[in-house]
Amino acid sequence: MFNLSRYFSTVSFILIVLAAGVLGPLYQKLSLQQLQALAESRNVAMAQVFQNSLQGALASLISDAVGQDARKLRASEDLDRLRQQAVVLMKGTAVVRIKVYNRIGSTIFSTDPAQIGESALNSSGFRAASKGVVVSELTHSDRIETFEGTKSDVDVLASYIPIVGKDQSIDGVFELYQNVTPFVAQLQRSLWWATAAVALVFAALYLMQFLIVRRAQGILEDQEGRIKAARDTLELQVEARTDELRRTNSQLESEIAERRQAQSKLNYLAYHDPLTGLANRRCFIERLEESLRETARHGERLAVLFIDLDQFKQVNDSLGHGVGDELLVAVAARLSEHVRLIDMLARLGGDEFICLMESVREPEEVDMLAREIIANFEQPFRLGDHELFLTASVGISLFPGDGESVLDLMRNADSAMYRAKSIGRGNYHFYTPEMTVQAKERIQMENLLRRALDNGEFRVHLQPQVDTHTGALVGAEALVRWESPELGSVMPTRFIPVAEDSGLIVGLGSWVLRETCRQFMVWRSSGFELAQVSVNLSVKQLERPEFIDVLEQILDDTGMEAACLKLELTESVVMAVGDACALLEKLRSLGISLALDDFGTGYSSLSYLKMLPVQQLKIDRSFIEGIGRNAGDEAIIRTIMELARSLDFEVVAEGVETPEQAEFLAALGCQQLQGFLHGRAVAPAEFRARWSVRP
Ligand code: C2E
Ligand code: CA
Ligand code: CA
Repeated sequence: MFNLSRYFSTVSFILIVLAAGVLGPLYQKLSLQQLQALAESRNVAMAQVFQNSLQGALASLISDAVGQDARKLRASEDLDRLRQQAVVLMKGTAVVRIKVYNRIGSTIFSTDPAQIGESALNSSGFRAASKGVVVSELTHSDRIETFEGTKSDVDVLASYIPIVGKDQSIDGVFELYQNVTPFVAQLQRSLWWATAAVALVFAALYLMQFLIVRRAQGILEDQEGRIKAARDTLELQVEARTDELRRTNSQLESEIAERRQAQSKLNYLAYHDPLTGLANRRCFIERLEESLRETARHGERLAVLFIDLDQFKQVNDSLGHGVGDELLVAVAARLSEHVRLIDMLARLGGDEFICLMESVREPEEVDMLAREIIANFEQPFRLGDHELFLTASVGISLFPGDGESVLDLMRNADSAMYRAKSIGRGNYHFYTPEMTVQAKERIQMENLLRRALDNGEFRVHLQPQVDTHTGALVGAEALVRWESPELGSVMPTRFIPVAEDSGLIVGLGSWVLRETCRQFMVWRSSGFELAQVSVNLSVKQLERPEFIDVLEQILDDTGMEAACLKLELTESVVMAVGDACALLEKLRSLGISLALDDFGTGYSSLSYLKMLPVQQLKIDRSFIEGIGRNAGDEAIIRTIMELARSLDFEVVAEGVETPEQAEFLAALGCQQLQGFLHGRAVAPAEFRARWSVRP
């Protein structure tokens, strides 16, 4: 920091010294001049006194003396008298010596007679005075001769004063010596005092200013300290704030990153199936929309393929959702890895997949893709301990032709898939407009089904079950028939799924059960004895908590013996119902028999089967069909037979149409046969007519 005090003390010291250096001599000079002027005026006054007092003597002396030699003059008595007069005048004054010069500079009078006759022509004082000017000179003499004797150490002012005559001419010159020693001493003293006072004042001023400056300096320093402290604090605050900002910034950044991540996750979830990682419905729809626009613009073609797994429900029901999910993941992986022709694969939900094929040149290409998809299911899926054989049904819609919009194309591919499924497992089918008609029919059917029960449009038909060896009637399966006034005779394969989907199956199932029991009792009371009658149960019925009560009520109402009633359930039905085992045990405890329908198509584990209180297995018709044609089917039948034997199940083969099939089954020890070979399902009257009288 700028050192104010040092600067100030230096500068003001220099200034004071300068001021003192200038003022001191100036004051001295002025004082001396004043002193000189005063002394001079006194000399002039004294000279006037002399002149006035010694008028006559002096005048004659001046005029006479011109031309007289000095010695004569000195000896003159007049002079001596004059001197005495002068001395008298001088007494008591400061004048210590008087000299008088004549016009030519000779000393004609002096209080010191020795000086008479001396010339003063060379004296500048005399010359000036002879021109009318008073001149004085202050000198210090160590020794001076006065009229009172010799004096030492005196300050003397010598004045040359012109002597003006009557006609204003300069007649001579006075030289007066005035002793100014006391004045000079006085002057010295006052000079000294003044100097001392000035010095003191200066010193005091200097000190005061120094103090003020020092105080100012202190204030400045204090201020500076405070500013520095404030600056330090500010710096600290700025640093802290910067830190905070940096932190907030990084926090913000991480928050943004998190949000972005969450956003992208949301985006991902919005467009992907979380289970398989495939695109989801929304994603597929958006892609298809875009694809449709492009395809239309370029005049190209595209295909939408709807893929549905045929046995997924059974897997899910029998092995649990965990295995079901694993299977879906495996299917998704296999399809996306191996089917190269697919442009986009998505999962719509459940076991439904959909794919898009763009830039289709020939419909054969789509055929190829569909076959490839189906072929991918030939190899079993291995999931942990399970080896699952699956098939898929594929429905195809094409653009242009099978719909203009995304929804039309998807719905039509779905319809085509249903058609493919109805043909049998592992098929594909192209959409045809008639399918839309069928889909509409399905809706119409549901509406008609709603009032069919109240309208009494249902009938129960019975299909015989015979002993494999004797061909004797051992029982009958009740199969529902619908005679619709609008639709005509409708087969259960068409309306049962609709009834199940709409929940109408519960009422319908109860009705079939009651009607079958009633018929059985009517027959019994009229003398037609049937050993046992089977009724099919839907999972929807079993799921009802009141099912057992309803069943007991029916048995009660009809008087039906529980032992004569057999209930047919598919494996998947058993698996789908929670605590199926307990429920079946309850049925068993009532005395009702249980049969596992469509056996071989599900995935019941052997250990689970063992636990079920089931007496009969019904080998699915699809395997019987393969007898004599498909070694695999035959092998499955053999396995089922062995299994049944070891677990002590009775086996019924359904869909037996030929004697060869019957023989094959008989050879394997299958106890009962059911099928067209022995009779179709027919109305009770016909059934009785056929079986009451043995041919
Ligand atoms: P399902 O229980 O497997 O019934 C056997 C089906 O095979 C019957 O078809 C029967 O007519 C048919 N069938 C029997 N023998 C042969 C044969 O030798 N060859 C051929 N090709 N078919 C044969 P239907 O009556 O059309 O019934 C179809 C399915 O409808 C039944 O299959 C059953 O699952 C369901 N169903 C029928 N009635 C009812 C019912 O009252 N309640 C429930 N829940 N489902 C029923
Ligand atoms: Ca059945
Ligand atoms: Ca069956």
